Amino acid sequence: MFGIRLLIVLFAIAAVVLILRRMYRRPAPKQPLAAPGQMVRCAHCGLYLPRDEATRKDDLDFCSADHRDRHTRG
Ligand SMILES: [Zn+2]
Repeated sequence: MFGIRLLIVLFAIAAVVLILRRMYRRPAPKQPLAAPGQMVRCAHCGLYLPRDEATRKDDLDFCSADHRDRHTRG
């Protein structure tokens, strides 16, 4: 039937347009690793806190210098 073929053609055109629009859309920029507001976990007590408030030692994050020292001592 002609009507159904026309419908299929219209759907195909719509699909091509959608694919082309998606291809030309710029991909969303990936968040940098040290993005502001990123949460890290204290290696000693498990508390989550913003990365810029954390104390770092040996690739581990701590909520305070006290927990960093306690963890280092064992
Ligand atoms: Zn802690």
